[in-house]
Amino acid sequence: MSDIDWHIVDVVCNGTIAPLTVEERNAALRRMADRMLNNSDSYLCPGNKITTVEVARRLGVKERTVLRMKAALPESVRELCPVCRQTMWIVEDIVEPHPDSLNQECPMSNRSVGHWAEDMAAEVAWLAARLRAGDRDGVWDDINDMTVTKARAVMVVALAAIPDKPLDELYGWVEEYA
Ligand SMILES: [Zn+2]
Repeated sequence: MSDIDWHIVDVVCNGTIAPLTVEERNAALRRMADRMLNNSDSYLCPGNKITTVEVARRLGVKERTVLRMKAALPESVRELCPVCRQTMWIVEDIVEPHPDSLNQECPMSNRSVGHWAEDMAAEVAWLAARLRAGDRDGVWDDINDMTVTKARAVMVVALAAIPDKPLDELYGWVEEYA
């Protein structure tokens, strides 16, 4: 998890000024950078473009600082996230922290793109092993602490692991909880 408050980042990207940490300011700039016009005094903003002056106002910094920050952003590839379906930026194969549609941090954040399913499968297997060992409350608490997006991803990976077998064979061990 990053310490980024994605709600604040969203608010700033939509034009309201709010205090930001350095990480939050970079995340907000990342989201506005593609829409930035180089011409700082343009009165006409085609489409959803915004001027550098406006970006500077939203971030609470000088225009020159915006240009410096933009140049310093790590080179990235923009794609749709396979987990939350929101825009994500990949820097050297690692996904930058980003929020899902509820502004909760997506579990793909800081993961390698090629390995998310394997990582998630390892986590599901670990939860299953604890459940079998009797740690029902611990597993319940862990699932409760997950973001909605993460719980959804865990659910999909867990469903994919269920083999085609009779129910009593699959879930016989659950009866001891009943
Ligand atoms: Zn995502």
